Amino acid sequence: MAIILSGKELSEKLTQEQKQRVVELAREGIHPGLAVVLVGEDSASQIYVRNKGKACETIGIHSETIRLDGNCTQQELEDTINRLNQDDKISGILVQLPLPRHLDEEKALACVLPEKDVDGFHLINAGKLFTGQEGVIACTPKGVLYMLKHAGIDLKGKEAVIIGRSNIVGKPAAMLLLQEHCTVTICHSRTKNLAEHTRRADILVAAIGRANFVTADMVKPGAVVIDVGINRVDGKVVGDVDYEAVEKVAGYITPVPGGVGKMTISMLMENTLEAACAQAR
Ligand code: NAD
Repeated sequence: MAIILSGKELSEKLTQEQKQRVVELAREGIHPGLAVVLVGEDSASQIYVRNKGKACETIGIHSETIRLDGNCTQQELEDTINRLNQDDKISGILVQLPLPRHLDEEKALACVLPEKDVDGFHLINAGKLFTGQEGVIACTPKGVLYMLKHAGIDLKGKEAVIIGRSNIVGKPAAMLLLQEHCTVTICHSRTKNLAEHTRRADILVAAIGRANFVTADMVKPGAVVIDVGINRVDGKVVGDVDYEAVEKVAGYITPVPGGVGKMTISMLMENTLEAACAQAR
């Protein structure tokens, strides 16, 4: 049976440390603040935004949610972001995705000052990650790496296979694992003979968005299996990995819920604290 990598436990530990850091920063006159821009009424986005607000409250970070009408113009959205860029109370800005279709996501993300881009989606931060420079790292892949390191998993020279090539999970996760000296393969919807790739993986990251997609026969015995997926099936949240079957084969596994998702929020808090410190300097 695989060892369970609990994002819940780890994030609770991080929350305690972050609470303490917020108190210490306040003594130095540094007061981190996070602004979340939410456009429209998407129900999943509302839940995510609420959870981010709660996390801020728990560790004592100032937070604001700016709600814009689903019909707002690109200009209104960009004016909102520019106002937050100038606001000294705000160290981090997050534009909740997806935006309604009539809005240009790339243009909106480009408006966020790179030093306030706590999601790590700005081209400058993506470019820094690509070239190995220090910048803001996207929260989900950062959380994945944090979990691996915290578990003491040696990454050097390991075969890492990532299923998914999105800009927010798959690609940045690949870059981070490459920096850790893994040999990285990125698989995607057009990959041929997917299982042949995944069966080679010492570290397998699933970021697909399809419930129970990774089956036991796709996993090398003893592999570390990181499930990023969040899928709703019959009102239940499940990952991209067939957990019950794969936990019998894998060496380590992350559960869903209680795995990577918890770490994503913790890393958002981390990025906000780091942004506040960098701006104070
Ligand atoms: P996305 O839709 O942008 O990307 C999905 C990727 O899966 C694509 O690159 C695609 O090529 C690949 N894919 C699709 N079908 C495939 C197939 N049959 N074989 C191989 N590859 C296939 O999604 P995303 O934003 O990267 O998110 C992926 C999943 O992770 C979703 O379930 C999402 O909800 C979840 N997610 C979780 C967190 C978290 O905090 N845990 C954060 C972000 C995303």
